[in-house]
Amino acid sequence: MNILVINCGSSSLKYQFIDMKDESVLAKGLVERIGIEGSVLKHERTGMDKETIKQSIPDHNVALKLVIDALMNEKYGAIKDLSEINAVGHRVVHGGEAFACSVVIDEKVKKSLEDCIDLAPLHNPPNLVGINACEKILPNVPMVAVFDTAFHQTMPASSYLYALPYEYYTKHKIRRYGFHGTSHLYVSRRAAEILGKKPEDLNIITCHLGNGASITAVEKGKSIDTSMGFTPLEGLIMGTRTGDMDPAIVTFLMEKEKLSAKDVDSIMNKKSGVLGLSGVSSDFRDIEQEAEKGNERAQIALDCFHNRVKKYIGAYMAELGHVDAIVFTAGLGENSAESREEICKGMEFLGIELDTEENKVRGKEKIVSKESSKIKIMVIPTNEELVIARDTLALIK
Ligand code: AMP
Repeated sequence: MNILVINCGSSSLKYQFIDMKDESVLAKGLVERIGIEGSVLKHERTGMDKETIKQSIPDHNVALKLVIDALMNEKYGAIKDLSEINAVGHRVVHGGEAFACSVVIDEKVKKSLEDCIDLAPLHNPPNLVGINACEKILPNVPMVAVFDTAFHQTMPASSYLYALPYEYYTKHKIRRYGFHGTSHLYVSRRAAEILGKKPEDLNIITCHLGNGASITAVEKGKSIDTSMGFTPLEGLIMGTRTGDMDPAIVTFLMEKEKLSAKDVDSIMNKKSGVLGLSGVSSDFRDIEQEAEKGNERAQIALDCFHNRVKKYIGAYMAELGHVDAIVFTAGLGENSAESREEICKGMEFLGIELDTEENKVRGKEKIVSKESSKIKIMVIPTNEELVIARDTLALIK
């Protein structure tokens, strides 16, 4: 059984082609700059060199056709016939309150996804475009939608409600949804496996620290609180996103700088975070390098980021009451020993004791806490594609 996992952005299409017999990735790749000059497909058959195919790719239909051609290519493809693609799993960002788990896509599901566009105007439309493109090119192949929000649908009202007039929740569905759900689910389950326990027997704090960053309190296998909110803007400081701030700043800025709502939204999403603070870059590697050279603002950006993660860990420890493990994942969480060290520093009194020697690890599963640490600190590379493929397989069976 082979599953094609698709993750469509507004101008990109990421894919993995997975053989579910042993969950091995047969091929993967990325189409970039769809509809923009300089479009390109980067395709990699496992064990072979990367292929770069540059050509005009005006829309997602053409992008997907190119991906299928690459998968069927004699030299670097993985299949001989379309019939070897048994199912497609789509990453969908926002499932609203309608979806607490993955679903087989049909017309009704597509309509519900359209209804969620208001909640995720940047993300859900390209997801739908990807679904429609697959329907055209792979008719009769079953498709499944796996939602970033689904894992967080177990949050209680005390976590998901904002203290706005209640009617805004009922009328406009304004509430915390949370994102990165497939990643938080994957690493929390994997942590349980590594610790030889059932997810129901553990409380875990999962820190997904990448360009987008969020943190989740997982109680007995279920998300009970998470830092991203109504949109992926809330919570931790990110590459270009503010994370938490006083909401009054929005109207203050609009008045002082004569900005429209759209302008402020764009500043908060695209020009803030560690980029805005450091003035260096949104990429943590660049900022770490600059900070090392003595750039003060780069150091301040890192300090603010670490402080915010620490604050959330403290808050979620209080909410969970008892914590067995803290997991670090995603680009920065998996790779930056320095960041993990800064975040954990000073939390020994809470039973969080990092082993600085063990912590010298990049992108590998490892327990990096001291033997004496009450709370295990773990590095676990995330694998959202595998969750999507597993859910797809389970549903089409
Ligand atoms: P992601 O969104 O999960 O792909 O993560 C991207 C972020 O992880 C970028 O800001 C990268 O700079 C950061 N990152 C990746 N590798 C490292 C590393 N070795 N050290 C520090 N940051 C890293």
